[in-house]
Amino acid sequence: MTDTPSGKKELKKIAVLTSGGDSPGMNAAIRAVVRSAIYRNLEVAGVMNGFSGLLNNNFVEMQSHSVSKIISRGGTILKSSRCPEFHHKDAREQAVKNMHDNGIDGLVVLGGDGSFRGANDLWKEFGFPVVGAPCTIDNDIYGTDFTIGFDTAVNTAVTAIDNIRDTADSHNILFFVEVMGRHSGFIALHTAIATGAEATLIPETPTSIEKLCNYLVSERRKNKTSGIIIVAEGDDEGGAEDIAKKVRTQLPDYETRVSTLGHVQRGGSPTCNDRVLASLLGHECVCSLIEGRSGVMIGREHKQIVYVSLEEASSKHDVIDKSWISISQIISI
Ligand code: ADP
Repeated sequence: MTDTPSGKKELKKIAVLTSGGDSPGMNAAIRAVVRSAIYRNLEVAGVMNGFSGLLNNNFVEMQSHSVSKIISRGGTILKSSRCPEFHHKDAREQAVKNMHDNGIDGLVVLGGDGSFRGANDLWKEFGFPVVGAPCTIDNDIYGTDFTIGFDTAVNTAVTAIDNIRDTADSHNILFFVEVMGRHSGFIALHTAIATGAEATLIPETPTSIEKLCNYLVSERRKNKTSGIIIVAEGDDEGGAEDIAKKVRTQLPDYETRVSTLGHVQRGGSPTCNDRVLASLLGHECVCSLIEGRSGVMIGREHKQIVYVSLEEASSKHDVIDKSWISISQIISI
């Protein structure tokens, strides 16, 4: 970084890393960061394995061709990891030193709220210029309508549940389908509405097995002989397996099955929406660093780019609209 005549620091080289849980669209974001930086005459380093790469000096020079043909690929070419050492200030100090030693004067962090806490520490403690873009399939990051990866994850889940519905209908089975969401029901609610599920159980609202059973009995009276219950993995009554077990004790003659979608939801080629979102936010990360706007997450709300402090983005959560639960139920009667 050098001083310009106006006294403003001029960026020469930035780094980009992916951290925490991977999400489809991370590669599209890396591509946008690398290409936008090169376009603005910056050098770019890719950091391997998230924050661990900052500690191990694991930097790779990125050229325009380094990110060719990755926009359609899930996962992350830079790899991701969880780095417990980063919770300690001395490790973060070492990371800043390593970046300085490698001529890096700005950092783009692609990750979730945990990664933003680490990024925020670099900014708060050492004044190191850092910006983030929200990458998680959970969609629960504060300050953005959607996170990179959510659209792909829900579309993957919807395709899977549509397939399950065929078997449920053909064999008169009540299916409990578990989707991801340890703390948040975004995936569950979106997939429930999109697949016409009969009920949705999410961490944000208490689940009553008794009410669920009463509801299932009333559905059966309407001659519905099969059904889909979407269960977010973090529901307070347990995962799909636990809930199915509890329902079976009260409704022993119902034929039930459990399907846990698991990690298929995390991978796969990103949808158009995720590729576009990742590209816009990745591009804006570079612009923001160049303009000297640091310590922020770049999000998108109401079709506009927004800047949210990393402090807020990492400490608050986006919340579901609870009215969706009853809407989903009303339109599946
Ligand atoms: P995500 O970014 O997907 O939410 P994690 O919560 O696992 O994923 O966080 C990813 C990494 O971010 C952690 O392994 C750690 O290196 C770093 N991190 C998380 N929380 C903090 C924190 N409070 N202080 C410093 N670094 C953190």
